Parts: sequence; C-alpha cells; structure tokens
Amino acid sequence: MKIYDVAFIGLGASALATLKLNYKSSMSIVGMDKNYNSSRDNFFAFWLTDWMKDFNEIIKYRWDKWEFNYDDLRVQHESQKMPYCVIKFKDWKNFCIKDFNNLTIKENDVLNLEKVNDYFEITLEGGEKIFSRKVYDSRTPPQQPNKLKQHFLGYVIKSNELNYENTVNLMDFRVSQDEGLHFMYLLPLKSNQILIESTVFSKTTLEKDWYERNIKRYIKNNLNIKNYQLIEEEMGILPMYSINYENIDDNHINIGTRGGATKVSSGYAFSFFIKKLKLHSYNPKENYHTFWDNWMDSIFVNYIENNTQTENIFKNMVKSLNAEEFASFMMGTSSLPTKLKIIYSMPKLGFLKSFFKSCMN
Ligand SMILES: Cc1cc2nc3c(=O)[nH]c(=O)nc-3n(C[C@H](O)[C@H](O)[C@H](O)COP(=O)(O)OP(=O)(O)OC[C@H]3O[C@@H](n4cnc5c(N)ncnc54)[C@H](O)[C@@H]3O)c2cc1C
Repeated sequence: MKIYDVAFIGLGASALATLKLNYKSSMSIVGMDKNYNSSRDNFFAFWLTDWMKDFNEIIKYRWDKWEFNYDDLRVQHESQKMPYCVIKFKDWKNFCIKDFNNLTIKENDVLNLEKVNDYFEITLEGGEKIFSRKVYDSRTPPQQPNKLKQHFLGYVIKSNELNYENTVNLMDFRVSQDEGLHFMYLLPLKSNQILIESTVFSKTTLEKDWYERNIKRYIKNNLNIKNYQLIEEEMGILPMYSINYENIDDNHINIGTRGGATKVSSGYAFSFFIKKLKLHSYNPKENYHTFWDNWMDSIFVNYIENNTQTENIFKNMVKSLNAEEFASFMMGTSSLPTKLKIIYSMPKLGFLKSFFKSCMN
C-alpha cells in the first residue's frame, strides 16, 4: 500500500499555491480534482502588494487607474505603487506545477476522507482508495441558500468599435437594480478586447440569460458597440458569509474558500491565501483576515442584506479614500486612520443597526 507524503483534495487556485510555495518535487504528492482538465481560465484580480510581487512574470495585465460610476458621479483613483493586476488561472496552474514532474494526478470526485491510524484514507468515485499522511482540502463548500452571495457572468468580447480607455471600471452602477445590488465590472484588456462582468449581490442567484441580457444591453447602450465577437466567458458564485470548516486534525488543513480565505465584502480570496502561505506557511491557527477586517466586513454585509439602494454605501466610501487607502482596504492592509475614514463614510443610522445585528449573529 502506497502512502503519499501529501494529498491535495481539489487542485484549484489555493491548492496550486500551496504546492508551489510549500513543497518540493522530491516528495510523493498526489492531487485529486474532478475537473482537473477543464477549460477553466478565469481572471484573478488583486492590488499589487509586497507578497504578490514574486508573481510579476505571470501578471497578464495591470492598470494604474480604476474608477466607480454612478448616474451623477465618477470617482477615479490612480496609483503606480499599488496597481490593479490580473493573473489568469491557466498561467497560475502552469507556473505552480511546472517543477513537479512526478506529481500524481487523479481526475476524479473525492467522496470520503477518514483518518486511519497516522494517515488518511481518501475514497474516490469508483471506489479507488488513496492514502496520505497530510491532506490539504479545498473541496468546494455547498452554497448556503439564505445567505448573501456575489454572483456574476463575464464576457470577454472583441470589437473594432471599442473606445479603449486604459482604466478599470470596478463598479458601474448605471444598470438595472431590480434583482439586488447590481453593477458592471470592466477590464480593458487590449485596444479591441474587454471583459464585461454583470455582478449582483443578493441571496438568490439568477438564470444565466438574466446576466446575458444585461451585458448585451450594456454593450449596446453604454459602450455603443454594435458588432462584436464573444471570445471567452467566466461565471462565479462567491460567498458573502464566513466559511470555516474544522480541520480533522493537525495534518488535515482546509484551505482556500473552504478554509475561510474569501473576504466577504468583496469576494476576493486569491491574494489572501497567498499572503497566508507566504507569511504563516498555512499555520491553521492563523486567520486569513484580521479581526477588525472581519468585523467591518460583517457590518458591511449586514447593511447590504437589510437595506435598499445600497449602491450609495460604496459612493461615500470611495469618495472618502484615495487610491492607496482604497487598495489597502481591499487587500486587508489598511491602517487605523483608513478604517476610521471608512466607518465615518457609512450611513450612521444604518451602520449602527447593522453593528448591533452583527453582534447578535
Ligand atoms: C470565475 C471566478 C473569478 C474569481 N475572481 C477572483 C478575483 O478576481 N480575485 C480574487 O481574489 N478572487 C477571485 N475569485 C474567488 C477565489 O479566488 C476563487 O474562487 C479561487 O479559485 C478559490 O480557490 P480554491 O482553491 O478555494 O477553489 P477552487 O479554485 O475552486 O478549487 C477547488 C477545486 O476543487 C475541485 N473539487 C471540488 N470538490 C471536489 C471533490 N469532491 N472532489 C474532487 N475535486 C473537487 C474543483 O474542481 C476545483 O478545481 C474568483 C472566483 C471565480 C469562480
């Protein structure tokens, strides 16, 4: 019976990061992922921080400018120090596994995990058993029906009619607000290519054609583009609630979304599991986010859940911060004065109500 040194259940973004940053190819390592050879190639965005600088060679696009748009307001931020960057999933995967020639891959569904003596027994669909002394577990947690989620569909389109401006549109609220807080997220990729993502914060996810209709309407009415070609799409449902599965023991570590990496107010997780790996080598006792960031995020999410016209909460916040203050908040590195500015920008009564509600949860 072969017992591996390390097993990865799920070989998505966080498992690949753990493999690359924590291990050497001399160890016996197995990765199990039911979708290992899928065509997945989504964007992972982050603001450039010290711990992300080592990945310069695979940053696909970067922007010094980003903005927020309302009917009556446009807020622009610019920072050369903390540009907004994206890495694509396939580049990340190739970068992380390129030195692991003897990595064993099982493209299969993991059905069960059990501790037996000093190792783990992992059961795959079809009955095959895998044994390992250490397990990193990133199985996708089931969605919780009554909790707030960020759900989106993105189209990368190609068109010669694109009026290219090298600025990311982080939130464009000039779209229908009928199904919850809704905005478009735009990444200008090339002079004739752009990602347009219809993003909603609500408890209920929507049929694909709802996002499609909104994206098409936006392309026609807001971007004034008539002829274009769809070249890629990405979809996602991200939790806006805290997730933290218990580890079975010290050699079983829940990672990524399952381990609580998602910043609930934004859905960003990628840079947070890399930060934890680089700074704490995945010490299970270290949290991905600070107490104060979690506290502010829970109040923020509670406010969005319990109020209408919540797009204004972002308006006041982004107006009150400069580019680096905003980027540092998004990356979990904001200073106390920045946190206080954010709290001060919130609607006072709604914020207090959400504060007391979040204390009771
Ligand atoms: C489309 C999309 C865009 C995103 N964009 C950003 C972004 O711009 N910035 C950011 O910070 N975050 C972003 N996120 C959020 C977060 O960074 C990602 O969800 C990230 O992939 C989380 O890493 P993970 O390893 O936890 O999960 P995943 O990368 O989803 O990996 C989990 C893996 O486990 C496999 N798996 C699940 N269950 C089983 C099972 N039972 N047996 C075998 N295999 C299994 C899955 O096939 C998958 O490959 C995005 C998420 C999505 C979906």
